Amino acid sequence: MKLILLGPPGAGKGTQCKRIVDKYSMAHLSSGDILRAERKANSELGQKAQSYMDSGALVPDELIIDMMIGAIKKAPAGYVLDGFPRTIAQGEGLDAALEKAGEKIDGIVNLQVPDEPIMARMTGRRSCPVCGAVYHIENLKPKVDGQCDKGCGELVQRKDDMPEVVSCRLKTYHEQTAAVIGYYQRNDNNIIDIDANQDIDRVTADIFSKLDALNG
Ligand code: ADP
Ligand code: ADP
Repeated sequence: MKLILLGPPGAGKGTQCKRIVDKYSMAHLSSGDILRAERKANSELGQKAQSYMDSGALVPDELIIDMMIGAIKKAPAGYVLDGFPRTIAQGEGLDAALEKAGEKIDGIVNLQVPDEPIMARMTGRRSCPVCGAVYHIENLKPKVDGQCDKGCGELVQRKDDMPEVVSCRLKTYHEQTAAVIGYYQRNDNNIIDIDANQDIDRVTADIFSKLDALNG
């Protein structure tokens, strides 16, 4: 299966993608995770992305499109795109690359959450810098406070999960990313709307029941 997961920051894209790829054996292609790995490696791309990410702005489209098309080519058996596309130009770039390769996306999972719960979700998020696992100080606690369940060590709070940057990211979402859903609706894609303002396991169950039907 080839899927896109859409939703605002804090919608639960990363959390649900991890569960989707475990169940359906697909690659998890997270633009945010790839960018953070590039920054850690201090690559040219990582250096270029840094200031945008730290302020809650979007990294320029041409950098992201090349990066994600490269990742897709390495996952021919199926993937779920997490955090990409985030602009209409990125959606067009993706469509052009897929068309050239004779491929298509099977479904677009649209996680719907109002703005109100987002701030608490994001400021309470704790991430493992080693394996990428994501926890929450209230909603999804690690077994031992502040430690990754997989034995990797200390969890961290991402710098861009501080309240000031979260506000900017939400603004960026409404100004630039929300329109991507309309782009896919206009182009007659298979959009799967999910109420993501429910507890994490309930959201997973709703996604699985829709994907089971799609997977046939
Ligand atoms: P995204 O990738 O869309 O930014 P995450 O999956 O990282 O979102 O989730 C953001 C934070 O909210 C994490 O700390 C996660 O544990 C928590 N979270 C995810 N889904 C839910 C949910 N349905 N209800 C409450 N908290 C959630
Ligand atoms: P979240 O999971 O909370 O939605 P991400 O980890 O996906 O956040 O993204 C973190 C940051 O990385 C974004 O605020 C943005 O600066 C950059 N980024 C990630 N994906 C993209 C993209 N598709 N286009 C532009 N910038 C991106």
